[in-house]
Amino acid sequence: MRVCVVGAGVIGLSCAIRAAEAGHSVHIVSAQPAAQSVSAVAAAMWFPYRAFPQERVLAWSMTSLRVFEALADDPESGVALRYGTELHRREKPDLWWAEQLTDLTLLGGGELSSVIAPNADVLGGLRARLPIIVMRRYLGWLEQRCADLGVVVSTAAVGSVTDVDPTADAVVLAVGMGAETLLGDRDVIPIRGQVVRLANPGLTDWLLDEDDPTQFCYVIPRFDDVVCGGTAEVGQSSLEPDMVTEAAILARARRLVPALTEAPILSRAVGLRPGRREVRLERCDDIDPNDRPVVACYGHGGAGVTMSWGCADEVAALVACCR
Ligand SMILES: Cc1cc2nc3c(=O)[nH]c(=O)nc-3n(C[C@H](O)[C@H](O)[C@H](O)COP(=O)(O)OP(=O)(O)OC[C@H]3O[C@@H](n4cnc5c(N)ncnc54)[C@H](O)[C@@H]3O)c2cc1C
Repeated sequence: MRVCVVGAGVIGLSCAIRAAEAGHSVHIVSAQPAAQSVSAVAAAMWFPYRAFPQERVLAWSMTSLRVFEALADDPESGVALRYGTELHRREKPDLWWAEQLTDLTLLGGGELSSVIAPNADVLGGLRARLPIIVMRRYLGWLEQRCADLGVVVSTAAVGSVTDVDPTADAVVLAVGMGAETLLGDRDVIPIRGQVVRLANPGLTDWLLDEDDPTQFCYVIPRFDDVVCGGTAEVGQSSLEPDMVTEAAILARARRLVPALTEAPILSRAVGLRPGRREVRLERCDDIDPNDRPVVACYGHGGAGVTMSWGCADEVAALVACCR
């Protein structure tokens, strides 16, 4: 079949790869190139954050975890496996996302002295080895994989599903926040995320502190830089970095990791996570007046990278049923 994928973020590219690997002739059409997508702003680590429903999210994430673990062997992919710690400030932390991890250790508060500066509020943590994904490099790797599979990419904004490549037998909508205007989906809500990237003073381990939503904090060392975040401002859509917010992000990160105090700022970025009460991954044939089969795959919130391969497999299976 000829399959047209709308969207060239991490979801669109991954879906295109799985569809092409299944033998379809694939065309991606995207309003903007991958380097300008929300996916390019992602921090990014494997962590199912702000995406629903939990059961499907976990299944998609675990499938992706296996793929990222394999990709970490390829230095060109931008994927690395790194140890790090999720901090816990509650007696009974919710570890739903870690249920199926094999390489993890629960730490008591007293065992965190090598991880963070002394902090009486932190009761414990979970140490695990997870994928860290350098998105610029990884999106380039995905684009190259698409090219190797003969996927054609073109740049154009799609105004309506009717306008999508008339030669396509099936359409995949991987448009992230674009679903709001393309499909009139009012359930898609931006969750604004701001990050600041610092020169890496030699850190290797990631750190995540999300117990207090107003003080969501992460420190993700990549290779030369460290991504510090973050914010999760529901319904906010400004793409301008806010300096007060940045100062608060840096204060939280430096309080936990004093080694960052002198690290120079390299860059800053803002992205709008495509939030939705549930990821929409389903066949929805009623939305194309041309009666073509359509598969929707959007609304991945703060975990689109984390779920990407699991979702792409499921999209490919739905496309296969379109024959
Ligand atoms: C600060 C920040 C940190 C994050 N950290 C992480 C993390 O650590 N781990 C993680 O898993 N996730 C993280 N995320 C979330 C992740 O970035 C998103 O879930 C993911 O990028 C969504 O991918 P997507 O391909 O659906 O959307 P996008 O990357 O937004 O791609 C959508 C594509 O559709 C195209 N498009 C839209 N409308 C149209 C149209 N009408 N016609 C043609 N093309 C169209 C766009 O041009 C774009 O190419 C983070 C996000 C932010 C902002």
